[in-house]
Amino acid sequence: GALVGLFSGYPKESDLEFKNNNIKLNVPEGSNVVVLKNLYLSCDPYMRSRMSKLEGSYVQSFTPGSPITGCGVAKVLKSGDSNFQEGDLVWGMIGWEEYSIVNATQSALFKIHDKNVPLSYYTGILGMPGMTAYVGFYEICSPKKGETVYVSAASGAVGQLVGQFAKTLGCYVVGSAGTKEKVDLLKNKLGFDEAFNYKEEKDLVADLKRYFPNGIDIYFENVGGKMLDAVLMNMKLHGRIAVCGMISQYNLEKTEGVHNLFCLITKRIRMEGFLVSDHYHLYPKYLEMIIPQIKAGNVVYVEDIAEGLENAPKALVGLFYGRNVGKQLVMVSRE
Ligand code: NDP
Repeated sequence: GALVGLFSGYPKESDLEFKNNNIKLNVPEGSNVVVLKNLYLSCDPYMRSRMSKLEGSYVQSFTPGSPITGCGVAKVLKSGDSNFQEGDLVWGMIGWEEYSIVNATQSALFKIHDKNVPLSYYTGILGMPGMTAYVGFYEICSPKKGETVYVSAASGAVGQLVGQFAKTLGCYVVGSAGTKEKVDLLKNKLGFDEAFNYKEEKDLVADLKRYFPNGIDIYFENVGGKMLDAVLMNMKLHGRIAVCGMISQYNLEKTEGVHNLFCLITKRIRMEGFLVSDHYHLYPKYLEMIIPQIKAGNVVYVEDIAEGLENAPKALVGLFYGRNVGKQLVMVSRE
């Protein structure tokens, strides 16, 4: 999965190409170098920005001609790092390739201890998106029982968990998504109180008012653009907006303006952006909370698994057309 070249606009499958490369499996002792067999790759929206020419961003552009990298689950084949042994399962930053040679520290590899859950979950609920939902909801939204919560891109990797966390706390939760199938999923499987297809709504301000006649206490922002403007008009006094992502803007040459920011003042709204990477010190605490919930069946997690590395470009591109139903990942190898 090598990037052909940096680009602007919507991504295409042909922006990635596959090459055959031979790699050496030798690692120098005490070198932090680890050889991995890659099992599951995570498709994440932020990866799109790394395919553009970036300046002053929190991430760097991918290098054209080299495999792109992303979060993934892998098995250790050889290790020069004393923290990892042959046979260990890990997750962290790996290449879009069958085997990767990485520096364990730079790739921020986490050892996987609990294997009595699906291994693929370490790309989703037990990995970066799970932590994003946890930190974004509990740390940034300051939620309280009984509050009204709205989640956009609600059926995705992050959104489906935010909704479930909010329900567990006793909030009223509404989600939006782009197809009927996803709306049904939100209402019938993920426990949202209400859900709607934002693509079918003609007047978002009026429609949100129907779901939130007394206003929104918490907005978990995943999409940006027109949706944010409509939400601002529906926020309650002292509401909170956790700005997690703005996927509607990632492929635009010029991002859309937001018109209703004045509401921040009149309604004393706190709007706060966050990056999950600043919060990994909370990861052990999160696992301690979430793994028993998964095992007890109190939290469900919907995955969309593409099979085979050759299908990885299509899976990644699909995020920007809403083709994924739940967390999009790629199975490179089962073991
Ligand atoms: P999802 O699994 O939700 O996949 C992306 C979804 O976004 C698509 O399925 C589609 O669903 C929706 N979408 C795509 N294009 C648009 C558009 N133009 N307008 C509205 N919706 C669109 O992704 P994730 O859960 O992984 O990520 C959700 C958000 O969280 C993203 O913005 C991402 O960048 C952000 N994020 C931020 C992190 C942080 O640290 N701040 C960490 C991880 C993710 P639909 O059918 O509903 O349109």
